[in-house]
Amino acid sequence: MSIFDLSGRVAIITGGNGGIGLGITQALAAAGCNVSIWGRNAEKNKSAAATMASSPGEVDTRICDVSDPASVKEAMKATLDRFGRVDGCFANAGIGGGGRRAFIDRTEEEWRKMFATNLDGVFHVFQVAARHMTERAEAGDAFGRLVATSSLASLFGTARNEHYAGTKAAINALVRALGVELARQGVTANAILPGWIKSEMTAGIMANEKFVANVMPRIPARRFGEPSDFGGIAVYLMSKASSYHTADCFVIDGGYTAF
Ligand code: NDP
Repeated sequence: MSIFDLSGRVAIITGGNGGIGLGITQALAAAGCNVSIWGRNAEKNKSAAATMASSPGEVDTRICDVSDPASVKEAMKATLDRFGRVDGCFANAGIGGGGRRAFIDRTEEEWRKMFATNLDGVFHVFQVAARHMTERAEAGDAFGRLVATSSLASLFGTARNEHYAGTKAAINALVRALGVELARQGVTANAILPGWIKSEMTAGIMANEKFVANVMPRIPARRFGEPSDFGGIAVYLMSKASSYHTADCFVIDGGYTAF
């Protein structure tokens, strides 16, 4: 049996109905993992599930707003009712900076919305998942995977986007702290830091010729990333092969940061 066989495992993927989250979900389902997509949009959830109809892993979908703790608790209960267990939690849902603006013009509303989705959302889903995983560890079944989608914005100074960068830098610190706290219970915590990836979030900026002409020469791989570029890391992190790999931040950017 392959060390990357995920048969019998169960993973939640927030924002698993599109973009990077769908790339993660499809790879997990193809490796035999049962997956539960948590997203706000029922139609997007349904279309995403349809792309995995012939995958070995079963696909479940839940309407969930990660910024709302009650919605997250409800989705967790429904997922546990369906599969009986949760082994992995990919806190991937996020919103982008939208129209960038000077820090001195940042509104309270924009700041709060960003943190409510990108950071509070990770807190809510990681907490329900970690409670379940640590309870199982106490019962003798020590296995858990917490994975959050961060960003290169957590490393670079991204002007006029400080609210987004702040949420992502906090995610890096969060997984390092959780990786240390939960290691003895067999629960790992890591972050994935994507570079420039094609998705609904980046469609607008990638349609801008000036942006492409400026950024492409700085990407050694000479292409934007695809959601499918996140399948390998997701399967690795979900598998037994990554048991000793925790509290880390994985940069997936075609070499952008190193160049
Ligand atoms: P998309 O816009 O394609 O996907 C975002 C997903 O998040 C959607 O599936 C959306 O589903 C979900 N979502 C948003 N808000 C909520 C919410 N409140 N509750 C539940 N789900 C929510 O973008 P990407 O795939 O690009 O982004 C995925 C992650 O990757 C984000 O965290 C983003 O910050 C990060 N990232 C992306 C990069 C890129 O270049 N694309 C670069 C660096 C990081 P629904 O609308 O149904 O709720």
